Amino acid sequence: MTDRKAAPDWRDHMISRHPTLFGGPSDYRSGRPETGDGWRDLLETAVERLAYAMQAAPNATLRIDQVKTKFGTLRFYASGTFAADPDARCAVELAIDLAEARSATTCESCGDEGRLYESIGGWLATACPLHADGTAVPLRPERAGLVIRRRYIDNKLELVSCRRYVRSTDSFVDVDPAEVGIEE
Ligand SMILES: [Zn+2]
Repeated sequence: MTDRKAAPDWRDHMISRHPTLFGGPSDYRSGRPETGDGWRDLLETAVERLAYAMQAAPNATLRIDQVKTKFGTLRFYASGTFAADPDARCAVELAIDLAEARSATTCESCGDEGRLYESIGGWLATACPLHADGTAVPLRPERAGLVIRRRYIDNKLELVSCRRYVRSTDSFVDVDPAEVGIEE
């Protein structure tokens, strides 16, 4: 019998394509995605975007630390000196924000369009109707797909961006924070 855990899958192929982002073959386990196969495309796209961003900033470093599901959507954690380079930081944050926003509209099991469901046990998951377990979590329409970035600027937490994710184009559009009840 083969050990299924030992069989390389798309996660391992992604890691071997990008050894610098994942810390190399001997040291990559921490960044290995712990998410379902339905998010494969959005993760591969995110990693390609990160690789592209880092090509444009050859002196900066980026390490993917953790890729997991929390409260039914993707959490993508990275660290490195990229944050000190404004252009690299902007490109890295955009790649991560797009992936996390797409995860909120993508079934983690199969990759079809999905939404958030809560199981009877209180487990949250983004799923299509076929893979849904439990009931659809009501979302305020004006907040759907909203991604807000705040950052400390001169020791003050400032709103950097307020955007809505558009699944059909895999991109963001700017939203007026006041229109969706977000304080600047
Ligand atoms: Zn599904």
